[in-house]
Amino acid sequence: MIGWKVTEFGKIEKTKHQELLDGLDSVKVKLTRALITEDDIAHICGEDKNVQLPIIPVRHAVGQITETAQPHDFISKGSRVVISSIEPCGECPACETGHPENCYNFGIAGKNKEGFLKDFAVTNVSNVFTLPASVKDADAVYVEHVALALSIIDKLNVQKSSHVAIIGGSVFASILGQILIYYQAVPIIIDDKEANLRAVKKSGIYYTVSASNKPEKEISALSGGRLASSVVYLTRSGISTDLAYKIASHNAPIVFAGYSYPNLKIPMNIAMSKQNNTSCVNNGYGNYLAAINLLANKAIDLSVYSLPVTKMQDIEAEVGKMVDDFENKKPVQNILVNLLD
Ligand SMILES: [Zn+2]
Repeated sequence: MIGWKVTEFGKIEKTKHQELLDGLDSVKVKLTRALITEDDIAHICGEDKNVQLPIIPVRHAVGQITETAQPHDFISKGSRVVISSIEPCGECPACETGHPENCYNFGIAGKNKEGFLKDFAVTNVSNVFTLPASVKDADAVYVEHVALALSIIDKLNVQKSSHVAIIGGSVFASILGQILIYYQAVPIIIDDKEANLRAVKKSGIYYTVSASNKPEKEISALSGGRLASSVVYLTRSGISTDLAYKIASHNAPIVFAGYSYPNLKIPMNIAMSKQNNTSCVNNGYGNYLAAINLLANKAIDLSVYSLPVTKMQDIEAEVGKMVDDFENKKPVQNILVNLLD
């Protein structure tokens, strides 16, 4: 079986690997599509010192069950599934007291356990979630993005018609914005790249604001002077964190969110003066089923973000380009890999 490994930071190489069932609850999955994002590239480049080499990178993938160690009620050979990228350790105080969602030491695909840039994966049956036929592979690779958005919304206490500012204009911002609209809130997406704002608008978000043109004034105007009742700062947005606090109203929650994160600084003077409750979300654990339901109900339209499919033979070259862009601080475009040919 084949896979791609990070053997030194900034570089992947093709390798062979073994995937054998290990234990009664294990299942084997033929991976069909993988999504490679800037977060994966940040890990490949060693931004996070917790990444342990050598490692198979990539966090998001879907596939089809080819083998199970024993029969299961909901999963059998041929089931289409998404594999959870995140697994509680089972040993820390949070896990031991029945709160795996607060695990101190999550296993994270492509960061501290093997990721999904490979043709087959063996995992525990509790890590796979079946996909209805209506959710296509190209959308299913975003299941954890939807789950992450739901984890963020849990922290926001979103009210009907409340203004939620999202700093960063990625596909993830659009997903979060679309779910906020579904919950009848009013998302406002802020970015410094016009192309990102155009895509976000096309995907159905009404309010977008340029980060380079007095965004505080515009947010104030859009919210009738009240400013944002909550703010989500996407950790890869590249925009000053000061803005998150400047556009937040007094006591507004501010959530920092993303799978990878540079060492960001918080303007404590503004946060203290407005008493902004700041929290952090870095995974969608616990929300996979709800996320699949939202996709199945067509609550999220990702057609604006459809990606050309990269063949396996082009993986090294394409990841090489993404690494160059990341290291040169240029925008890194996601790629969708076809793991069938
Ligand atoms: Zn744990």
